[in-house]
Amino acid sequence: MTLDDIAARAPFDDAKKPIPGLMQNWPLTIDKIITHAAAAYPHAKIVSRGNDLALRTTTYAEIEQQSRRISSAFAAHGVGAGDIVATIAWNSDRHIELWYGAGGIGAVIHPLNPRLTPEQIIWIIHHAGDCAIFLDPAFLPLVEAIAGSLSSVRLFVLLTSEVEMPANTFGAISLEAFLANGTRPERWGDFPEDGACSLFYTSGTTSNPKGVLYSHRSNSLHAMLAAMAYGLTTGDIMMPVVPMFHANCWGLVHIAPMIGASLVLPGPALDPASLHALIESEGVTHAAGVPTMWSALHQHLMQTGKRVPTLRRLFTAGSAVPRSLIRRLRDDLDVEIVTAWGMTETSPSGTIGGYLPRHLADDEDALSAAARQGRMLYGVEMTIRDEDGQTLPHDGRSSGRLMVRGPAVLSAYFRSDVKICDEDGYFDTGDIGVIHPDSIMQITDRAKDIVKSGGEWISSLTIEDAVALHPAIEHCAVIGIPSERWDERPLLIVRLRSGTDMSADQIRDFLVDKLPKWWLPEIVEFIEEMPLGATGKVDKKRLRLIYAPLFGMVGAAA
Ligand code: ADP
Repeated sequence: MTLDDIAARAPFDDAKKPIPGLMQNWPLTIDKIITHAAAAYPHAKIVSRGNDLALRTTTYAEIEQQSRRISSAFAAHGVGAGDIVATIAWNSDRHIELWYGAGGIGAVIHPLNPRLTPEQIIWIIHHAGDCAIFLDPAFLPLVEAIAGSLSSVRLFVLLTSEVEMPANTFGAISLEAFLANGTRPERWGDFPEDGACSLFYTSGTTSNPKGVLYSHRSNSLHAMLAAMAYGLTTGDIMMPVVPMFHANCWGLVHIAPMIGASLVLPGPALDPASLHALIESEGVTHAAGVPTMWSALHQHLMQTGKRVPTLRRLFTAGSAVPRSLIRRLRDDLDVEIVTAWGMTETSPSGTIGGYLPRHLADDEDALSAAARQGRMLYGVEMTIRDEDGQTLPHDGRSSGRLMVRGPAVLSAYFRSDVKICDEDGYFDTGDIGVIHPDSIMQITDRAKDIVKSGGEWISSLTIEDAVALHPAIEHCAVIGIPSERWDERPLLIVRLRSGTDMSADQIRDFLVDKLPKWWLPEIVEFIEEMPLGATGKVDKKRLRLIYAPLFGMVGAAA
């Protein structure tokens, strides 16, 4: 028998079986994360901006205590394992305590996006079957207006004290009243790691929201692998601007206590001036959010002349980050942007970007590399397939559907029988991308956004990136419009910075040496306000609706 014959055999034949390891069984449940933080980093600070905009400081030791009290109050109110509890709240210490309080008794936390329409929120609550809603006082009018339609919900709790409790018509109680019966529960955690832990709905950028149900195991593993990839460490001061209701808050509510990083939580004040004030007063070293937030922060700092000397890295994901923004943050503020790619369905971290030493020889190379979505994290297997399901080479040119699998990738949507993974267990992300020979993945489009012109694909992201290099452009977006001759052509929509002026011809001239000639958009539309979706991304669904009457798009709402 040759060595090749041996290699071709299954790793173990019938006679040879793996023997069991002799290590302890320690279920990966998320209560252990906050218990660990309380033991290892009890004094690490968590600073939150409350609804009254005042700052509140707490520690991991206090958060763990309070989470346990919440668990026992849940039990006193008849909420237990398997129940789904919604939150409508900004990023705060109280919100974190609810996550761990629910997780500690096997209940499922379901952070809801308040920026969705009331109809979408009712639909999601009904679909999830939420039994309770915890809300910031700011969302009282929203919930009051829809409470009568929420048949599954039997408990409403406002995240406020008894004295500050406003009058309401739907029987809501204060957090203080809710906690009145809560003592420290004897039993915490101690259930199987594959039990459900949290539920997030996709933001519905391309279709109706869909539920993604994370397990304790997937959240614990995701936190470990994402912490490694982000390079966060003990003593870092992380400000998640990404809301806790968006895509698992990128794992940061689990990662920070796991590794002993402090958290700075901006509450309702997400404008650049308030964010800058927090960065300055708390010495924030790292922050995370979608690119539009960092572009607004950069603009604010340039206008006011303020600076952010403690800030080292901004993590950004959710949509492509223009090279121009990476350059401005680096050159004007000495801040590094780190691009990540992911989606609610992948917990969400899938890849992490960054330069390689060889890119640094040339500035344009370095910026292009930094703008790409990056390498797959440990625990994320990734492949690119063509329309026939054939695997494509990693040559940086062959673009196809991005498929992923791993312990923090979903296997099915919540309450849905639709099969979403192929025979090999790969989930089709709906993104189109290439993998470069150095294994760096680059998203070129969403399957729904790609412009199909004359049988070829035009990447809307590549055009947007080139347009954004011009300093007069504040926002831009490309969507496909019908063309009799080519099927589809790209329509470029731009919002100019205030005080600037540019014609369509000047924009096209600027693009001539940056894009293939046949990619140049014949039509450029100028828009006063670029519509942003519920998570701060440019809302292409809305843009299609706006421009449908002008350009004859059929089924623009799909
Ligand atoms: P929704 O699917 O409702 O927008 P998600 O927040 O889960 O909600 O969005 C995931 C999608 O965002 C990805 O499938 C991808 O299209 C896009 N995305 C995420 N990160 C990046 C990135 N770094 N570059 C380009 N697109 C990204």
